Amino acid sequence: MKVNNVELVISAVKPEQYPEGGLPEFALAGRSNVGKSSFINKMIGRKALARTSSKPGKTQTLNFYKIEEQLFFVDVPGYGYAKVSKTEREAWGKMIERYITARDVLRAVLLIVDLRHPPTSDDRMMYDFLKHYNIPTIVIATKADKIPKGKWDKHKKVVKETLDMEKGDPLIVFSSEIGLGFEQAWSEIEKRM
Ligand code: GDP
Repeated sequence: MKVNNVELVISAVKPEQYPEGGLPEFALAGRSNVGKSSFINKMIGRKALARTSSKPGKTQTLNFYKIEEQLFFVDVPGYGYAKVSKTEREAWGKMIERYITARDVLRAVLLIVDLRHPPTSDDRMMYDFLKHYNIPTIVIATKADKIPKGKWDKHKKVVKETLDMEKGDPLIVFSSEIGLGFEQAWSEIEKRM
């Protein structure tokens, strides 16, 4: 999809704040610093739109970006940041769970992981959580430019096996740096709209 039009419609905490209108939604999740903002920016062709509340201490919100009046990207605050308090972690969990379990326009979650390393225990928890609620999941393994192409297949296999990925869930090798995987990611999204 060629994106010209993006609008941050709302930063929501509660279901009453989620946008109305019934457009399909694609949520983006990943551990802090994995490259989620870079992924979103690459997908919408912006340099710095998705600079949000990933900083600890700030209010954690779900950011609803309306794209081309056709769909929403819902940016979920990053997880796995060590310095986050237990209370904040719990608030985060509650917010995600409420969104995931009750949002019927949610078509899929894009789970961003780092292709260079095996997914973390937090990544596995997130994937298991999504599978528990039968949410279609598109795994994006980013930062592919940081390892040689000849090693991608081996690393893909580690990601698939560590997450114990279901057959129907695609795994896309991505790089925001060199624009790799962009078309494939959009095609998986458009298929599910
Ligand atoms: P977020 O916290 O998940 O939103 O992560 P950011 O998008 O802010 O990225 C974290 C760091 O990783 C930044 O320094 C980015 O420049 C870098 N980064 C993100 N994606 C890529 C990528 O595909 N390749 C490389 N080489 N670096 C990346």
